[in-house]
Amino acid sequence: SAKAAGSNQWAFFKQQMTERAAVRLRTEASLHDALKHEEFCLHLQPKLNIETGEVIGCEALIRWKKDGRLISPMSFIPVAEETGIIIPIGRWVIEQSCKIIRDWQKQYNYALPIAINVATPQFADASLVPDIKQMALRYQVNPELLEIEITETSLMNDIELAINKLEQLKSAGFGIAVDDFGTGYSSLSYLRHLPITTMKIDRCFVSDLPHDSAIASTILMLGRQLNLKIVAEGIENEQQLAWLKEHNCPIGQGFYYSQPLEREEFEAKYIAKQHASITVVDNQ
Ligand code: C2E
Ligand code: MG
Ligand code: MG
Ligand code: MG
Repeated sequence: SAKAAGSNQWAFFKQQMTERAAVRLRTEASLHDALKHEEFCLHLQPKLNIETGEVIGCEALIRWKKDGRLISPMSFIPVAEETGIIIPIGRWVIEQSCKIIRDWQKQYNYALPIAINVATPQFADASLVPDIKQMALRYQVNPELLEIEITETSLMNDIELAINKLEQLKSAGFGIAVDDFGTGYSSLSYLRHLPITTMKIDRCFVSDLPHDSAIASTILMLGRQLNLKIVAEGIENEQQLAWLKEHNCPIGQGFYYSQPLEREEFEAKYIAKQHASITVVDNQ
């Protein structure tokens, strides 16, 4: 009967919900363990001046080393966001990035900016601004060397909150980039009032180049009008790069230049070669 079928469906639904909740709980528990046992690491991907080819910064991208495998953020960040454990994970990312900047300055006398991704619940959390200020202070990192990447969707989620928080970050000196620009629903009139410094053209528009360039052109124009730095994400081939160069896109990032690399490899390739290590004379 219809009633029996309905009740069967309900039982099935309940079972599904219970399973999903169980998976979420298990994942949350293992993310806690991962933090405790230092199973996370940051990979670094360079950002280059498209005209000169000079490395002008990098983006920190989290990985989870679990049982000898590397797990992509795409598969654990959503659960981390749902359960709230993104807050301590995000704090770990901020601290690690500050440490890396400090180490490069100490060891190579070289200051390279690092961009870190901030998730929506982390951006909304009251601890973000004090945390990041405190870490920068503790590791003596110039706030200008830290750039916060926030997706367009995060910003438009609560515009009042976004304006308030970005003002605090900006007045403390941190850089602010809108990540994945063009994929969310920006209100262009609000965008004008947000104290952002950088706009990252989403990879999907770069992959359309050079044949379908309408969106990339429009974003470049908008960014220029708003006086922002513009980064093209996900550059994979020479044709895409040629188009971007021709249209004066200032900064690029993508597999064509380099994959995200382990810290040691990134250092060897982009830091140590150009900047001789400083010999610390220990008088003790
Ligand atoms: P995102 O911030 O937009 O980062 C760019 C993603 O594109 C990275 O994926 C990067 O490896 C990938 N990518 C870079 N160049 C290319 C390219 O030329 N072609 C292609 N196909 N892909 C390219 P990844 O590392 O898997 O990160 C995925 C997303 O996970 C990030 O997107 C970001 O939203 C999130 N994420 C990564 N690390 C963190 C983190 O520490 N905290 C938070 N909250 N989210 C993070
Ligand atoms: Mg990003
Ligand atoms: Mg992006
Ligand atoms: Mg993304």
